[in-house]
Amino acid sequence: MRSLFAAIGVALIALSFGSGVAPVTVSAQRAAAVRPQRMDEEYGKLIQQHLQDPRITTELVDHMPASDTVPSPLKFFGRIPGTPGELTYAKDIYRYYEALAKASPRARYWKVGTTEEGRDIVLLAIADEATIKSIEKYRDMLGELTDPRRTSEQRAQQLLHTAKPIYYAISGMHSPETGGPEMLIELAYRLIVEESPFIQNVRNNVITLITPVIEVDGREKQVDTYYFNKKRAQGDARLPLMYWGKYVQHDNNRDGMGQFLKLTQAVTKETLEWHPTVMHDLHEAQTYLYASTGTGPYNDALDPIVVNEWWMLAENDVMEMTKRGVPGVWTYGFYDGWVPNYMFFIAHSHNAIGRFYEVQSYGPDNYEVRPGATVTSKEWFRPNPPLSQIKWGPRNNTNIQESALLFALNHVAKNKELYLENYWLKNKRAVDKGKNGPTFAWVLPAGQRRKADAADAVNELLAQGLEISRAQTAFKAGGVDVRAGDYIIRADQPFRTLAEMYFSVQNYPPQNPSPYDDTGWTFQYMRDVKIVPITDKGVLAQQMAAVTAPAKASGGIEGTGSVLVVDDTADNNVVTFRFKNKDVKMSAAEDDFEIGGHKFRAGSIVIANADRAKLEPSLQELGLSAWAVASAPTVRVHDLDIPRIGYIHSWTRTQDEGWWRAALDTYGIPYTYFADQKLKEGNLRSKYDVLIFPHVGGSAQSQVNGMPVTGSAPLPYKKTAEFPNLAFVDSSDDIRGGMGVEGLNELAKFVREGGTLITEGSTSTIFPEYGITTGVSVDPAPQLFARGTILRARFSDLRSPIAYGYANEDLPVYFSQSPVLRASGGGFGGFGGGGRGGAPGTNPNGGAGQNVTPNAVPLRIQPLEPGEAAPSPAATAAGQGGGGGRGRGGRGGAPAAPAAGAAANEDAQMRQMAAQFGIAIDETRPRVVLQFSPNADDLLLSGTLAGGQAMASTAAAVDHPLGKGHVVMFAIRPFWRWQTQGTYTLGFNAILNWNDLDAGRAGTAGRGTTSQQR
Ligand SMILES: [Zn+2]
Repeated sequence: MRSLFAAIGVALIALSFGSGVAPVTVSAQRAAAVRPQRMDEEYGKLIQQHLQDPRITTELVDHMPASDTVPSPLKFFGRIPGTPGELTYAKDIYRYYEALAKASPRARYWKVGTTEEGRDIVLLAIADEATIKSIEKYRDMLGELTDPRRTSEQRAQQLLHTAKPIYYAISGMHSPETGGPEMLIELAYRLIVEESPFIQNVRNNVITLITPVIEVDGREKQVDTYYFNKKRAQGDARLPLMYWGKYVQHDNNRDGMGQFLKLTQAVTKETLEWHPTVMHDLHEAQTYLYASTGTGPYNDALDPIVVNEWWMLAENDVMEMTKRGVPGVWTYGFYDGWVPNYMFFIAHSHNAIGRFYEVQSYGPDNYEVRPGATVTSKEWFRPNPPLSQIKWGPRNNTNIQESALLFALNHVAKNKELYLENYWLKNKRAVDKGKNGPTFAWVLPAGQRRKADAADAVNELLAQGLEISRAQTAFKAGGVDVRAGDYIIRADQPFRTLAEMYFSVQNYPPQNPSPYDDTGWTFQYMRDVKIVPITDKGVLAQQMAAVTAPAKASGGIEGTGSVLVVDDTADNNVVTFRFKNKDVKMSAAEDDFEIGGHKFRAGSIVIANADRAKLEPSLQELGLSAWAVASAPTVRVHDLDIPRIGYIHSWTRTQDEGWWRAALDTYGIPYTYFADQKLKEGNLRSKYDVLIFPHVGGSAQSQVNGMPVTGSAPLPYKKTAEFPNLAFVDSSDDIRGGMGVEGLNELAKFVREGGTLITEGSTSTIFPEYGITTGVSVDPAPQLFARGTILRARFSDLRSPIAYGYANEDLPVYFSQSPVLRASGGGFGGFGGGGRGGAPGTNPNGGAGQNVTPNAVPLRIQPLEPGEAAPSPAATAAGQGGGGGRGRGGRGGAPAAPAAGAAANEDAQMRQMAAQFGIAIDETRPRVVLQFSPNADDLLLSGTLAGGQAMASTAAAVDHPLGKGHVVMFAIRPFWRWQTQGTYTLGFNAILNWNDLDAGRAGTAGRGTTSQQR
């Protein structure tokens, strides 16, 4: 087998580069193609020398043409990609690309964005000279194929012959995955200079766009880190890549929906401008080479053609590589194809094709690969599996991914009309879907309760290319009352795919293969805004005007008087208003109240002797509404004292914490950022009022211990002249060792002395596990299956300041698997609790006899609001008509009457009853603010869930008093990946009301410092 294929390989090489270089079919339009091209002998020798195994090559990459005019990587860098022990900074890759574009009319180079740390994000375009010269013309042709509303069928049919597909390759997203950017150095040169018919075919028929490094900040840190570690003595601890981008690490590839990061914004912008036919992201986390298809289930909103395209492209790569005897190129058995949060899904939500590779790591040092049986077995999706042992190195990595990518480019070049036709068809079918229903539009009421956040949502959707209009007049359609000014998302637009993808409810039966990431993401749930599907075609004929400027909620002041009352709508801008005007004395109402018929939720801000001229512009800017009145409302209030905030991170993982920083930075909340090690220094209370300690991951013990203290030398994370990219965000003389028990004691002391500590996810387990707080336990819940899903949580105490502003009893929350927090004697769920154990706990891959139709039995999912039809994936996109009762909260009018009092009353009764039996309920018992639904059957709102009984009535958010202070524990992740804007206010409320968290607590006069009766 092996030698036969090798022989074919040799024959192919001879065909391409032997004497006379093949007459070949691809036309002799270029004289250069007829003459044998001169090869760079030295380059070829180096390829050979660095390659660790002779099987990892193809005839496409075993040589390199010479050029008199275009600098080769060898000439430019003094080494070739795939040289062991070397990595290239992004800035040097840029210099090279710039030189390529200068030297060759076949390339164009430009800047497309700037990173958070101020570095450029760039693009290199490669095609034949004539195409590059009129590249804008080709861009516009794809633009025409994108929009069947303005392009006729006849024109489209012409374009299928004249347009060219754009293949957009992106790499360097995950900074420790170093090989993609190196390979792309070489690929660019080869595509520009090589005259083989194969490369000519690519160059003449496809426009290749390359962003060699998308996480530029992380790349420079990674290269510094590699060379830094090279200088460490044997036995000394090695520096991990501490920060990648400014905010997140690996999650930079989970920002496709949230679009917070500059790199995502840059790719979205390029997608909307260039309409790449294929977007291909190069990663490095699997054996040899995985070409993406995924195990399924595939995203429901995808046009079915995309699934065929994934498979065609992947099978082409696998087949071409297998034909040449290269082992270990495979597809299917990694990742699912479900959640649209990846960068390459930006292509899918815009009807193009997104795909990715996972290549065996570049190194850059040579190493050996010995995968286990589950990786080397022969399976239907890997007919020629990876070997049980192989010598690997950076040149293997370069060869395998450069070859596969060239086969993909050539395949698209050969089949360009097919891919252009599919693209046209997908756009057409998307528009038709909106004309044929059952969903004809979605309406986002402009005057809904959280109107500022609703405007934010509109802006996010606009930035992603969705066309949004505003109703010119009021009308009724499909039982929905639409007001003038409401936002309408027409379903008859090409990118309605995105709308459907985001607005539908996800149903992920657990019988499917284990999900790779989140299972539920429903946009309006995560953001807690109202978006209503319209099932009446009449909506399309209504008068509406396109939104062309950023949406802004109406804000300002009504009435006259010296006292200002700012409505707390749970909009995220409420916290901005407080911090923006930090010198103004403000108080928060501790109960709901009413002024002149307008109902205010507890948390509404009262400002006496208000300076209207100063505050009104601020309110208008933020889209918040206030009422000016002659005298303060009769309601108990407490001062909103501006806290001094400390922000704790761990050196063991700087991944998830950044999403909190992202929110604090965006909403204008200042903080001091420091590592958990510094907790040991003590005196925390004298420095801070609030400490925020976001999710780290791992057990309570591992979080306290921090990075193991190995080796005798300290491990600094410091900027030096040699390594100027290190120590961004934070630095340390020695990152080993965490807070330790000493630091933990100081943290507890901080709370006992009156500070407020805010924890989420894994950090919420530390105090309970160490027995510092005793009212909350961490349940193991082995039967629970709740991966990245949206669940129903219920406010059990709407009088807690943490619940301020929220008007509905139920709140959709993001939760992923752990921690399950059970509060004793807190909210009512704590008593009695939900039945536990005995959950079915379906093992997704378990049992004999594989379930090959896992989606045949969907999960039962309840709607968020009673009276709404139970959604199913198809029906949600379709909508169910629904009565007029859908408008939540009543458009800036009265909020739905919260059940605030009820919980407190029950609590008081409970207390009274306990007292009769001589039991004094401890004032320091935890106060459950938000808990998961007591009914396991209505927990799931979107995503997946099995064994939900384990979560019923457990706490989603708890306020645990400790000494004079509070520990606020979130089991949910309120600041998840810039997607959960609907739960940000829970965290902001804890910050704003840090020293009055006992307000509204049943049976107490409040332990706050400034409570007063007015
Ligand atoms: Zn990756």
